[in-house]
Amino acid sequence: MRKFKMDNANKKNIIILVVDAFRPKNLSMFGYRKKIDKNLKKIADKNLLFKNFFSSSNATAPSLMSIFTGRYPNHHGILHQFPYTTNKEIEKMDREMKFWLPKYLKEKGYNTIAIDWIGMWFKDGFDYYEEREETQSKLKKFMNVPVVKKFLLNLPNWAYKIGKKVVKTRASVKFSPAKDTMDLGISKIKNSKKPFFLFMHFWDTHFPFPTTKFRGSKKENIEEFLEKIENKSQREYFKKRVTDIGLNSTEDMIDKYDAAIKEVDKQIGRLFNYLKNNNLWDNTVLIVLGDHGTNLIDHEIYFSSSGLYDDTIHVPFIMHLPGFEGKEMNEFAQNIDITPTVLDYLGEREYNNFDGKSLIKLVKGDKIRDKVFFWDGLCVNVRGVRTKNKKLIVAKDNQCNLCKSSHHGEFEEYDLEKDSGENENIYSGESELKEFLDEKEDL
Ligand SMILES: [Zn+2]
Repeated sequence: MRKFKMDNANKKNIIILVVDAFRPKNLSMFGYRKKIDKNLKKIADKNLLFKNFFSSSNATAPSLMSIFTGRYPNHHGILHQFPYTTNKEIEKMDREMKFWLPKYLKEKGYNTIAIDWIGMWFKDGFDYYEEREETQSKLKKFMNVPVVKKFLLNLPNWAYKIGKKVVKTRASVKFSPAKDTMDLGISKIKNSKKPFFLFMHFWDTHFPFPTTKFRGSKKENIEEFLEKIENKSQREYFKKRVTDIGLNSTEDMIDKYDAAIKEVDKQIGRLFNYLKNNNLWDNTVLIVLGDHGTNLIDHEIYFSSSGLYDDTIHVPFIMHLPGFEGKEMNEFAQNIDITPTVLDYLGEREYNNFDGKSLIKLVKGDKIRDKVFFWDGLCVNVRGVRTKNKKLIVAKDNQCNLCKSSHHGEFEEYDLEKDSGENENIYSGESELKEFLDEKEDL
């Protein structure tokens, strides 16, 4: 077999853009009524758009791990989002770490750059890692003490709102606005003396969207909305969400999410123009995806990515692969396929210890999977499997770490052909999909 030797001349630059809590439902290329994805759509129209792309998790940490290792959470070890990650999970990760894309590319001579704030072991393999310190004000920390929180949540709405306003949380310090992220990204490209791998993570689309300028309307429906939420812990959770975002209607909350998408899209457009104008486009792989999706007010899960409904795990995936014609793909693909795709594209044949498969096979017309698997990174022990028309979710412990209620029963099965909204549980005590989940026993 021919051994591929990479020299600088045939090394393509690689850019991976992760947009947090990014769901297809809010993009016009997936049928949304608002055109807030103008630039991305322009790229997607002429490149590779995957319409059935799923994350391996509804949470950031397990999903990023899958992207960089090519493996499912039960194999790479990190099943839960911080701070719910257990020591056992981290030990498993240390034991099982066989491949880490940034490290691989660095060893191949790439200049590896990350703009993100998650830090910890995610920094491994990067020559440059922009990290933002999580600066929480003392008052905000105090407000998060359980007793204090309980007291605050029991105040009437108006009092809670005033209290929060006085404290004025500094959540925005944690996230840098898409424009700053892109400014830094472009300046890093400009200064790169050799082929680069650039990973950027946009947090603007993460609740409460603090980096997005948005003037609320006069609409007001929160009181009404709260009254309809029967579960007490969910009601309290939503109440906190509302006060964190400081808006008075669910429509405004959704509009603010859309405004954040529009801003990220604008910045991706800037990157596209920069690459085009500097003759880099034909020499650069560009991948844009969501780390996971999000519920807005769907399934009584409020502005969070808890639960394994499609809203939280179906994500947009757009890829520019120089040499490949534009195409729309409807076959299944997952974030575990990204690393194998990059390696395949670079001509690397040595590694095969991945759960994922190269998407190039799929682009060429082969099917690579008929099922997708996913783990709930926010609930204690919930996982699922999905085919084109069926989904099975199994919850061994369904408590949600965020809102403390539960979003799934012990077994839930959906007929996605008749019930794409996943509203009617058809589980009858048996499911043809069950054996596939049994195989995926966790740690
Ligand atoms: Zn929840």
